[in-house]
Amino acid sequence: MAENIEITPRTGTAFTLNKGQRLTVIDPKGVQVSDLVAFNRHDPEEVISNGRTLDYASRIFLTTGDPLYSNRSNVMLKIVADNSPGKHDFLLTPCSKDTFRIIYGDKEPHQGCFGNIAGAIEPYGISPDRIPCAFNCFMYVTVDSESGELKVLPPITKAGDSIEFVAEMDLIIALTACSALQSNGGSFKPIQYKVSD
Ligand SMILES: [Zn+2]
Repeated sequence: MAENIEITPRTGTAFTLNKGQRLTVIDPKGVQVSDLVAFNRHDPEEVISNGRTLDYASRIFLTTGDPLYSNRSNVMLKIVADNSPGKHDFLLTPCSKDTFRIIYGDKEPHQGCFGNIAGAIEPYGISPDRIPCAFNCFMYVTVDSESGELKVLPPITKAGDSIEFVAEMDLIIALTACSALQSNGGSFKPIQYKVSD
């Protein structure tokens, strides 16, 4: 059995995933978001694409059975199990210094998921400008069907909820315990993950 690895609050990590391996992302305490980005390990110009994925799915809420496509329309990951309410966001970018400056008015903003991802992918030679819109596990964002207004609501996950992906190519994954108060019901919790064959 693979061990669960913990990502401490407001941090992130990166690791490789081989084609066929499974990644489980766990919300151990509930009400906590985890941003996930994926790069083709053999050519990091190929990245996970919310535009391609949502276009082909014709839905904004993705769950078990849904593929996550790259900017080249190849399937990078597939959701194989979703032990959560099935509300994950794929519209919004990783929270960042600028998110906290522009939305929250912070004078000394935290580097956010964006900064955490940038630091984690640097050893793989990938620059921050390559960071795409993340698949935000457990992040609950609704859209008003008339006005198009977006609402970032607290996640509706319970302790121990999880989502499991299978890699459809060799990948570099970056994963965070999200740093934005609004996305996480007002407090910062850890995230856990495990990789299994
Ligand atoms: Zn975040």
